[in-house]
Amino acid sequence: MSGTLYLVGTPIGNLSDMSPRTAEIFSSVDFIAAEDTRVTLKLLNHLGIKKPLVSYYEHNRAESGEKILSRLLAGESCALATDAGMPAISDPGEDIVSQCHDAGVEVIAVPGPCAAVCALALSGLPTGRFTFEGFLSTVKKNRFAHLEELKTERRTMIFYEAPHKLKATLSDMAEYFGGDRRISVSRELTKLHEETFRCTLAEAVKRYEDTPPKGEFVLIIEGAPEPAETEISFEDALEQVVTLTESGMSLKDSVKQVAKSTGFGKNDLYNAMLKRNNG
Ligand code: SAM
Repeated sequence: MSGTLYLVGTPIGNLSDMSPRTAEIFSSVDFIAAEDTRVTLKLLNHLGIKKPLVSYYEHNRAESGEKILSRLLAGESCALATDAGMPAISDPGEDIVSQCHDAGVEVIAVPGPCAAVCALALSGLPTGRFTFEGFLSTVKKNRFAHLEELKTERRTMIFYEAPHKLKATLSDMAEYFGGDRRISVSRELTKLHEETFRCTLAEAVKRYEDTPPKGEFVLIIEGAPEPAETEISFEDALEQVVTLTESGMSLKDSVKQVAKSTGFGKNDLYNAMLKRNNG
């Protein structure tokens, strides 16, 4: 029978956020796959646990993933941990989870902190519907295409960003989403210099004009406003049809165009026009 892969969430700054279950799982598995074995070793030392470690990170995930999978298939159990937070969220994990599902290996989550969810909860922006966008690309073309795609996104958006790219990212966001769009910036969550501030994108750009950003950041951006509803009465829509027909357009085409722009039914407009013309 095959073993189990445990996705183990680890603290994003404050070691007290480590759950007793995290320690239990680290102790009970046969081996631990770590994004950076040195970082996870420190955690294990803190917990007083000794366990074999293998490395599993962005650039060896194909080769290392295969080895991990074959050990799981042979019946061993493995805990996957990244440097901070939940594995598979802007961190390695997605591939091995998918491979395990394909191979029929059980995958269990041992939940821990996730910077995205903490910052969202702190933002005060709507949390009912949101979208996680991770890091914007550093390749300008891809970065701008990503922002363009999100211009009309109504849901609250979550982004990760590194401090040295923050200023450029805020400026690009202000350009694409508008300076008035609200943002909540969370920095150094669960750490000594933790702060969350809410302002507009224009104000966020200004804040970092002279002060270089420091620490780890999550940006929560308000979704795009609902488009203004066109309040037009059926009578006004009919008048539009009349104007179009008077300018030479056929009745059928006039009805089609007005139906499309106002949302009224084609048949309703057409029948009302016939009645009007015959009455
Ligand atoms: N898997 C992790 C998680 O569940 O949050 C995210 C890993 S991703 C490689 C690292 C990014 O997460 C950072 O660049 C930053 O945007 C965000 N992050 C991680 N820890 C953070 C913290 N303590 N405060 C604010 N942002 C943090």
